[in-house]
Amino acid sequence: VEGIDAEAGPQGMQRFEGKIAPLPSLYDGKRAVAWMTRNITRQHELQLRLKRLGETDQLTGLYNRHFFFDQYHQRVQGQPLTGLIMLDLDHFKLINDRYGHAIGDNVLREFSTLLRQLCPLDGVVARLGGEEFAIWLPGMTGDKARALAEQIRCATEELVSGDGVRFTVSLALGISQSGEGVDALLQRTDLALYQAKHRGRNRV
Ligand code: GH3
Ligand code: MG
Ligand code: MG
Repeated sequence: VEGIDAEAGPQGMQRFEGKIAPLPSLYDGKRAVAWMTRNITRQHELQLRLKRLGETDQLTGLYNRHFFFDQYHQRVQGQPLTGLIMLDLDHFKLINDRYGHAIGDNVLREFSTLLRQLCPLDGVVARLGGEEFAIWLPGMTGDKARALAEQIRCATEELVSGDGVRFTVSLALGISQSGEGVDALLQRTDLALYQAKHRGRNRV
């Protein structure tokens, strides 16, 4: 717009909402519109922040349980092939008991970083709650998902946290058969996780 001092207004990327309505009569002999523009940059930023907060687990920065199940319905369901990895840290209560809750929290954070590093870009890594995590792997074959799970298990076993704590994780792998609902897949995978615990932990 001519005649506006570019330095005077807000700087950086701005977002606007415009409302345009045709005028009922001619203006200067021509058809014309009334155009009202509103700067919605602050609302937009707030909206993004609220969205992120609603999707994120506060402690680890991973996606939260709510987002994880949302993604199943939006992206994963209907895919011919879907991998699911469920993870539960072994004897985590002992880590809290031995080192304290704050160091337990650090372990959860460092484990989350490891998951983020190892998970492929199109995977969805979430903290379901406590010391339980899950990963959606849309379109991933059983062999690849199994290799990833084993890689996570090994990397966890080798990790020494910043506080000098060592720990292990039990994992379960589920591959969905077409049309299988989220509940059925979770139930099967949960059962496998129970078996991994029962057979001695630190295993897929
Ligand atoms: P298992 O190998 O059978 O999974 O044993 P476990 O001790 O890991 O499992 P259990 O369910 O007995 O204990 C989980 C513990 O996780 C208990 C709870 O205090 C702790 N926990 C849950 N959420 C948090 C958290 O946000 N921070 C910390 N530090 N501890 C948490
Ligand atoms: Mg648990
Ligand atoms: Mg546990």
